[in-house]
Amino acid sequence: MTRAERERDLRDRLIHAGHLIPLPTRGLATFTSDVEAVVRGVDGLVRTMEPVAGVVEIGVPPFLPEVEFVRTGYLRSFPHLLGSVDVFTGSPRDHRALMADVEAGNPWTERLSPAHLDLLSAPCHSAYPLHQGQSLHTPRVYDIHSRCWRHEPSDDPMRLMSFRMREKVLIGSAEQASAHRESGLGHGPRLLSDLGLPVSRVVANDPFFGRMARLMAEGQRDDELKFEFICDVYGGDDGGVALGSANYHQDHFGGDFDITGPDGGPAHSACIGFGLERIALALFAVHGMDTGRWPTAVRDGLRLGP
Ligand code: AMP
Ligand code: ZN
Repeated sequence: MTRAERERDLRDRLIHAGHLIPLPTRGLATFTSDVEAVVRGVDGLVRTMEPVAGVVEIGVPPFLPEVEFVRTGYLRSFPHLLGSVDVFTGSPRDHRALMADVEAGNPWTERLSPAHLDLLSAPCHSAYPLHQGQSLHTPRVYDIHSRCWRHEPSDDPMRLMSFRMREKVLIGSAEQASAHRESGLGHGPRLLSDLGLPVSRVVANDPFFGRMARLMAEGQRDDELKFEFICDVYGGDDGGVALGSANYHQDHFGGDFDITGPDGGPAHSACIGFGLERIALALFAVHGMDTGRWPTAVRDGLRLGP
């Protein structure tokens, strides 16, 4: 089987077992009780993974105001992945025209206006704006769960456009950010291998857009800024699937948001992120479709109950 066939095979098995209800739009899926229970279990493990003194858990909206979104540099590097929100702000007359278009089967979204909100692509992007223009005397550590958006439609059940991620983010000095990333490089793979997921840690790069993509990716790899926790979910030699990542951003976000670190220089940051559906589905791929037959230690770790 080719990689694409193996991806579809996993999707079919999840559908057949009643775990995944396919939706008409590629890259969107509805999951049912067993997957949701595993997602909750994984989320709980990530949340309590590595208690760092002073860590603050924050609940954030799945959007960023446009100005902040632009500041993150996402538009520059990943325009192909973004999504933004439109709203209706018209008069009753505009509404009648809108409904007439809808009823006639005409395009109608042109009658909406931009809300100047962009869909969050990574939870950590909501942390940096909290400190815009500030001088931090101590590092800030956040634990953030959010639904994320990336426009990458696919038949691979592990590659969704809308998915959940939990991240541990540190904003501080270069040493503190490097140490945070280093600690994630130890804790992240351990969390996954304790669940029976065979993972390896590899140097990786983000999917940059456009003519500079290769250069940017090479720079990121040469500087070893991004590591991924890769699991060989699909077999074969065409690469595994990233279940999580540990990223050192240097002063990228500190510079963009004008944050000064405890050492008086631009703040550095690092994040450790885990894709919750990805990890849950990897568990189904590795341990089988019936969670009742998963190893007891895995069920216990995920608090799946007796
Ligand atoms: P990244 O910020 O790209 O390193 O992503 C962090 C983690 O989010 C990845 O390791 C995956 O577990 C998860 N993830 C990223 N993109 C997707 C996607 N399209 N669908 C599902 N999970 C994803
Ligand atoms: Zn991040």
